[in-house]
Amino acid sequence: MRLCFATNNLHKLAEVRPLLSSSLELLSLQDIGCREELPETQDTLEGNARQKAEYVWEHYRVACFADDTGLEVAALYGAPGVYSARYAGPQRSAPDNVQKLLQELQGAPDRSAAFRTVVALVGLTPEPQLFAGAVPGLITEVPRGLDGFGYDPVFQPNEGDGRTFAEMTLAEKNTLSHRARAVAGLVSYLQKTAK
Ligand code: IMP
Repeated sequence: MRLCFATNNLHKLAEVRPLLSSSLELLSLQDIGCREELPETQDTLEGNARQKAEYVWEHYRVACFADDTGLEVAALYGAPGVYSARYAGPQRSAPDNVQKLLQELQGAPDRSAAFRTVVALVGLTPEPQLFAGAVPGLITEVPRGLDGFGYDPVFQPNEGDGRTFAEMTLAEKNTLSHRARAVAGLVSYLQKTAK
């Protein structure tokens, strides 16, 4: 089976590729000739994941899935949430987003947070299939680690050993991340429907 992962984020593609069965041919947007920005104008993770996957299905007729992720910080009443990419402005700069987050949390006694991902699968059934994954953790006082992307240097998962996602290898992050959990739902759905 051929399935496109509708993302322009090469970090996400690298994370998800080893989680999928080798019997599945995973295509990137580049592989299907899609070079444009995908629309992402909804106000929920579900809505955005669906919108990105539906765009690719409608324009390229390739079955695909897309993910949308938000970082929900308790002391900020769930912000930046669905607006995580543009938290510090429309330029979507990860260092600026991280810096703004650390500033907003200065002196906050509660630094708990969670990453939440929704994956939408489109093109195999009349209605999109949705899969969710989440991981609780806390926002560190300073960035730590060089791997990963986005907010990884300031997110320390509760189930880990004290390291941030950016201090883990890709394989280690994949053992407990929000995205890996959502993709596990997708994988088990694909296995069931292939039978
Ligand atoms: P989106 O899902 O690409 O819209 O991501 C929203 C925001 O969250 C962007 O700023 C991403 O860099 C960030 N983000 C998404 N997934 C992760 C992750 O696994 N680790 C850290 N940051 C992430």
